Amino acid sequence: MAFKSSYLQRVYDGLAERNAEQKEFLQAAYEVLESLEPVVEQNPKLEEEGIIERIVEPERIIMFRVSWVDDAGKVQVNRGYRVQFNSAIGPYKGGLRLHPSVNLSVIKFLGFEQIFKNSLTGLPIGGGKGGSDFDPKGKSDREIMRFCQSFMTELSKHIGADTDVPAGDIGVGGREIGYLYGQYKRLRNEFTGVLTGKGLSYGGSLARTEATGYGLCYYTEEMLSCMKNDSFKGKTVVISGSGNVAIYATEKATQLGGKVVALSDSNGYIHDPNGVNLDVVKQIKEVERGRIKEYVDRVPGSTYTEGCRGIWSIKCDIALPCATQNELDEESAKTLIANGVMAVAEGANMPSTPEAVAAFQNAGILFAPAKASNAGGVATSALEMSQNSERLHWTFEEVDGKLQTIMKNIFHACDDAAKKYGHEGNLVVGANIAGFEKVADAMLAQGVAY
Ligand code: NDP
Repeated sequence: MAFKSSYLQRVYDGLAERNAEQKEFLQAAYEVLESLEPVVEQNPKLEEEGIIERIVEPERIIMFRVSWVDDAGKVQVNRGYRVQFNSAIGPYKGGLRLHPSVNLSVIKFLGFEQIFKNSLTGLPIGGGKGGSDFDPKGKSDREIMRFCQSFMTELSKHIGADTDVPAGDIGVGGREIGYLYGQYKRLRNEFTGVLTGKGLSYGGSLARTEATGYGLCYYTEEMLSCMKNDSFKGKTVVISGSGNVAIYATEKATQLGGKVVALSDSNGYIHDPNGVNLDVVKQIKEVERGRIKEYVDRVPGSTYTEGCRGIWSIKCDIALPCATQNELDEESAKTLIANGVMAVAEGANMPSTPEAVAAFQNAGILFAPAKASNAGGVATSALEMSQNSERLHWTFEEVDGKLQTIMKNIFHACDDAAKKYGHEGNLVVGANIAGFEKVADAMLAQGVAY
């Protein structure tokens, strides 16, 4: 791993030494720092003011015990996290993830990515992320509630509508946000916009549920249109995952004229050559909280295969990885390329390994990086914060219209930054630079406070 800039090399080496075990975080940091070579070269002030070493270090990390009682009356203990990474341009903002794979490295990588993503939205939100190694799978509603109440009892001391505003992520949807919000209100006696992704009856925004998946498709449509004079129309689409992002990416890709033929979960994937029936998927995943393999019992002509990576062997024009980090490796990328994929856009955070990204870029495949293409969720969360502040409720069309404009603007910000720094067509570099510039400007203006 070698940087051209000795400054970047020094910062990265120090980071790698101090966080040797945090491989996801180092992967995310390396990718961003690599993109910043031309910016650092042209702006000596960044080194003079220590901007890079400051931006890779979280402003604050909170780690805490979460004890709760299961349905059998047994005490369970999980670990909770909130990483408040950067508040240069606004209050910390980023989701909460509940998944057994959660550790400090995962939360730091997500929080770090969130800084640049939130900056790209053009809205005043800083970067943060949190979660727990609690596994919601197989837990009763009551167990989920008791966990959320215990988690919020500690978290409530560190967040606030103008300080840090968490939202959902893997394992945290409307049900969990409801329990978390109820506990915050009970502890603080405040009805305030401290969380986003809330239910519509208590301050949530229309279109927030759909926003990440819809936004991903708006970004992809703009990328296809501007870079290939093409669109979703008539394209075969493969989407991994079958959670919030995957479901609403399927809905919008279909509305835009694409045919989604596959979805997955962590056990396996379904293939439906006739185009996925989304009503059936929503019933299984959103209502029954079941597994994706149940789809084949209800839809004739579809098949189920164990193992989630095989999904990338299905021939498609557009691939949208929407499950989790590092789910698409070099081998899968090469299979997609051999099968004629024309565009890959990330719905999940960092779903493609660095080797997969390089394979797509070397093959001239359009590639949209997560921090740009999945920013629609957090952007709409910021719109929810605005509505909460003015105590108003916008229509679905109003929010969706703003989301479309934001996603188009993000695409052009990435495209323009890539051109400006001599990397035309490279949206990874463009997203990192465009996201970084605003945060760095704000940090420079605010002095060495952190
Ligand atoms: P959900 O919990 O709703 O769904 C997650 C989906 O991914 C499920 O199908 C799940 O399968 C699958 N999955 C999770 N972990 C793994 C794993 N280790 N291996 C294989 N599959 C896995 O989460 P979301 O849809 O909200 O999030 C998906 C991705 O999108 C994440 O990377 C998240 O950070 C990102 N994202 C989400 C946003 C949002 O607004 N929700 C905003 C921006 C990004 P299973 O049920 O088997 O676990």
